[in-house]
Amino acid sequence: MAEETRTVLVTGASRGIGAEISRRLAAAGYDIWLNYASSDEAAARVAEDVRNLGRQCRLLKFDVADSAAVRDTLTPLLDEEVPWGLVHNAGITRDGLMAMMSGDDWRRVLAVHLDGFFFVTREVVRAMLGARQGRIVAVASVSGECGQAGQTNYAAAKGGMIAAAKSLAREVARRNILVNVVSPGLIDTEMIEGLPLAEMLKGVPLGRVGSTGEVASVVEFLMGEGAGYITGQVIGVNGGLYM
Ligand code: NAP
Repeated sequence: MAEETRTVLVTGASRGIGAEISRRLAAAGYDIWLNYASSDEAAARVAEDVRNLGRQCRLLKFDVADSAAVRDTLTPLLDEEVPWGLVHNAGITRDGLMAMMSGDDWRRVLAVHLDGFFFVTREVVRAMLGARQGRIVAVASVSGECGQAGQTNYAAAKGGMIAAAKSLAREVARRNILVNVVSPGLIDTEMIEGLPLAEMLKGVPLGRVGSTGEVASVVEFLMGEGAGYITGQVIGVNGGLYM
């Protein structure tokens, strides 16, 4: 960790993986810009955790898929300060077999993951280009690597995000901006409630779901000095589900 305090913008950080990433990065000494969509009380609790760790936290409530909201919120902040890092983690699922899937469910999942990645990252990377440094981590999914029945929308979005992140990594490497993907498998959050876990765990060599901390520790590593020669990589945190 460098001497000056660095700030990381974490999207989708009111709950689950993003909340744990925010706490973990705060414990490692980063200030947090904490984005979320609707869970005001949960977001406030995470912000309190960050502050109790001695770090600053700004709550940024906006829908990552709303380009105007993203721009209106981030532009004034980015004029004041260029964050060291961005963790694009916001996500939803609207699972269903493709034959039965509505256009709304297809479009909304692509909008939150893919448009959201584009809208948020575009603003932040512009500022990072001027600063000639930065770290970007996109949180994708094993579904985007190997596919998952019932998740054509989600897999398409996450697969697209992986391709976009690799392309961006090539665009900005010369400016010392590193772009990587963390790709979780089954992680213990509200997102996997209601899934047939006993059946799904048969495909996981480690035989258990992962914790949010096991994802956050990889993100923390990618934000740190030790990850300075890593860009364009997809790092699976999936218990061996996909190798
Ligand atoms: P989660 O517990 O459902 O939390 C989702 C977070 O994303 C919440 O903070 C939510 O904010 C936020 N969010 C949703 N839509 C948003 C939007 N349009 N704009 C801004 N924020 C939005 O999910 P999770 O399990 O932590 O998942 C985090 C990321 O990991 C997602 O990208 C997910 O696809 C990915 N992932 C999860 C798993 C898993 O097994 N859990 C596996 C692979 C990948 P509100 O609370 O305000 O709605």
